[in-house]
Amino acid sequence: THERKPPSPLIMSQGNSARILQLTLAVIKPDAIAHPVIFKAVHEKILLNKFLIVRSKELSWRREDSQNFYREHSGRFFYQRLVEFMSSGPMRAYILAHEDAIQLWRSLMGPTKVYRARNTEPESIRGMYGLTDTRNTTHGSDSLESANREITFFFPEFCVSHWYQQ
Ligand code: ADP
Repeated sequence: THERKPPSPLIMSQGNSARILQLTLAVIKPDAIAHPVIFKAVHEKILLNKFLIVRSKELSWRREDSQNFYREHSGRFFYQRLVEFMSSGPMRAYILAHEDAIQLWRSLMGPTKVYRARNTEPESIRGMYGLTDTRNTTHGSDSLESANREITFFFPEFCVSHWYQQ
């Protein structure tokens, strides 16, 4: 399918070199979408940190989507809980661009587990709004490889390689 050219702000000048902004996949999970005030606060974090929102959409998963996305966790004790939760209601997915998109979004989210998030990074998104280890407000890709895979999972029409070839 034809992918339209991304907008020009993706090229950042640094000295005399120009480079293409890194992409990550961010998701606001059903627990945070269910509370409009929390959704707004998380969305504002994205804007305040000067991410470029390349794509964004609201969607809901069927159970199979949830199982498929989290299949690497299929042996874990929390897997069923996680699958149920992620298919329990709408979420919002974003393709975010930034010079350091993957690491920056991960650090804004904070630690996976809510107790740790509240105690070690109380200002992080999970530290402020996380409910439980499963219902922890947000998802973010943890590597370039997973970002590429997850962007394609959520936005199959978006061509990641095209972005990096600009
Ligand atoms: P992250 O989302 O921080 O990358 P993981 O990839 O390890 O974390 O786990 C995926 C998701 O599974 C977490 O965001 C959380 O919703 C859930 N999860 C992870 N560990 C636990 C746990 N120990 N108990 C309950 N749910 C968990």
